[in-house]
Amino acid sequence: MYPSEFEYHRAASIKEAIGLIQQYGDDAKLLSGGHSLLPILKMRLAQPRHLVDIARIAELGRIAEQGGRIVVGAAARHHQVHTSELIWSKLGLLAECAGNIGDVQVRNRGTIGGSLGHSDPAADYPAAVLALEGEVRLEGPSGVRSVKAADFFVDLMTTAIQPGEILTAVSFAPLPAAAGYAYLKHRQPASGFAMVGVAALLTLDQGGKCQARASELPASARRRFAPRRSSARSTARHPTAKRWRMRPYMRLTASIRWATFMPHQIFAPNSRAFTRGARSKPQPRERCADRKPVNPGKPEK
Ligand SMILES: Cc1cc2nc3c(=O)[nH]c(=O)nc-3n(C[C@H](O)[C@H](O)[C@H](O)COP(=O)(O)OP(=O)(O)OC[C@H]3O[C@@H](n4cnc5c(N)ncnc54)[C@H](O)[C@@H]3O)c2cc1C
Repeated sequence: MYPSEFEYHRAASIKEAIGLIQQYGDDAKLLSGGHSLLPILKMRLAQPRHLVDIARIAELGRIAEQGGRIVVGAAARHHQVHTSELIWSKLGLLAECAGNIGDVQVRNRGTIGGSLGHSDPAADYPAAVLALEGEVRLEGPSGVRSVKAADFFVDLMTTAIQPGEILTAVSFAPLPAAAGYAYLKHRQPASGFAMVGVAALLTLDQGGKCQARASELPASARRRFAPRRSSARSTARHPTAKRWRMRPYMRLTASIRWATFMPHQIFAPNSRAFTRGARSKPQPRERCADRKPVNPGKPEK
């Protein structure tokens, strides 16, 4: 099905984009990568009269370290996050999560701002952003505000974004050097979306205590959507190898009943959360342009 008619506006700055969505109000929708919005328009689940394209606003696409925090612009694409040296060295969990999203085409178009703004219960980013305790930056006619990830996700496809506001960036405190992490998802076989996704993070604090955090994402419509907060925390003074492995594992299996197989895999001895960490080397996936055709077809006569 074709989308209903709309007027296309390409914003050159955040200010212009905010002005346009203020001007058109409920008749306007932001367009970033378009990978969630366009299917919705085609199914006519939404029929906005104006689309405000923010994908080419340069400052929204930046990934940088500012004031001791890693700031990821809203229009940063999944591929950009997955292949950023800075993200791999300071926020490996986010880079690993981004590499799990969709396929190469989706990762080359979809953006972190679009994914968080859309708040699909089957999306991958929310679990990682919650585990990393990210802060979402929102800009609107009344200024700029910061919302903690735990307060940002309100319900199924509902966030703390107010009318007229744009999500402009997500920021994170860098992970300590001795951090272990893993993102694991159970894919829906046809679409590749997460039926369940678990982000796990292990750190040692200055006193040598082991901190474990995990957040999970339910994709089931039977449940109220709320990517669960980084609920499982445990501490173990001077953790022995056994404690380091077992305590978060036990807490998690108790707290995440509906997806027990996930924490089992993540926190099992020799699992990725323990064996991989900040030292993981980036394994960027290829860009579309680098990809050889799977079926080159017959040569032209
Ligand atoms: C075939 C396919 C497979 C996919 N598989 C996965 C997967 O496995 N895991 C996964 O997580 N996702 C998956 N996706 C979704 C993909 O990651 C999308 O790119 C993402 O959800 C939305 O990002 P976008 O930039 O395309 O946003 P858009 O589609 O442009 O926008 C989505 C919504 O967010 C709003 N929005 C966009 N930007 C902002 C902003 N800056 N501030 C406020 N609101 C904003 C828009 O108005 C719209 O309502 C898949 C998509 C497709 C088509």
